[in-house]
Parts: sequence; structure tokens; C-alpha cells
Amino acid sequence: MERIISLFKSLLLIELLKGMSITGRHFFSRKITVQFPEERTPMSPRFRGLHAQRRYPNGEERCIACKLCEAVCPALAITIESEERADGTRRTSRYDIDLYKCIFCGFCEEACPVDAIVETRFIDYHGEVRGDLVQTKEMLLATGDRLEAQIAADRAADAKYR
Ligand code: SF4
Ligand code: SF4
Repeated sequence: MERIISLFKSLLLIELLKGMSITGRHFFSRKITVQFPEERTPMSPRFRGLHAQRRYPNGEERCIACKLCEAVCPALAITIESEERADGTRRTSRYDIDLYKCIFCGFCEEACPVDAIVETRFIDYHGEVRGDLVQTKEMLLATGDRLEAQIAADRAADAKYR
């Protein structure tokens, strides 16, 4: 009996018509494919992309080399060395984030008492040779300088939900 039903369905092209009806339905529905990178989907202010080190408005770097971020990092991706300045303040002499190890958990920015290390919404970066994805202090500060307006806006937006 099953074979007869199957033969009957084949003769009437039932399966083919079913398939074409699905194709037709999607053909006229709203397209959800985004043409990246020209088009972007909305991004949360809490998005955890490339790291940056921030400065205060007077240009002074925020980081006080407390090493809380280094201690909390579950991937051991942060390496900090510090030194005392002539004015008695402590600052980092080395601050590296190894993006090969980083799992973008955000613990470093959560732990930072002075909002110095942050993860930005910037995702358009890549490495070409070995070591390219180790972010040095200079690279992190440069990212912070370049994206400070967006970082500040994102943190203000985020503060509303805390
Ligand atoms: S995002 Fe997480 S894994 Fe990456 S450096 Fe910060 S604490 Fe470490
Ligand atoms: S980035 Fe923040 S948590 Fe890490 S050493 Fe500097 S001040 Fe401390």
C-alpha cells in the first residue's frame, strides 16, 4: 500500500511542489543576509573586541600598574612590569596582552579599578606574521587614543544598566 501511495505522490510531483513552495516563500520574504563588512549588524556597548588602554583627559595614562587584571586573567594572557616614576607614582613599563591566548572574557576590564583596560567594539584587526597579535602597551594606548570617543559613549550607555 505504501508503495502505491509513494508512486502516486511521485506521479503528481507532490514532493517537487512542496520544495518549490518553500523556495517561493523564502524568495519573497525579507532577506536577513548582511553584506559584511559594508553592512554591520547592531552591536552591544558591552561587546568584547580589541583591547585598549585609556588615558585621562589631561593625557595621563589611567593604568596604575596594580596588576589586578594580570591576576584575574584566566588565560594568563596579560604580562605587566612596573616601575616607580620620579614623582613617586607607579606606572607600567611593560603591558602586553597576548591575543593568541586571550578568550575575550572581559574579566580584565571588570577587575580594573580605574577603567584603564577596556575591550572595544573594534573587530577589524588581524595578524600576518607570528607575534602580530601580541598587543603591547604602545599599541593598546594607540587604540585607546583612536577609539576614546566610542569607548566613553559605550561606557556611559552601559552605566545605565548597572
Ligand atoms: S579578556 Fe579575559 S582572557 Fe582576555 S586578557 Fe582580559 S581577562 Fe585575559
Ligand atoms: S589595567 Fe587596571 S587592573 Fe590592570 S594593572 Fe592597570 S590599573 Fe591595574
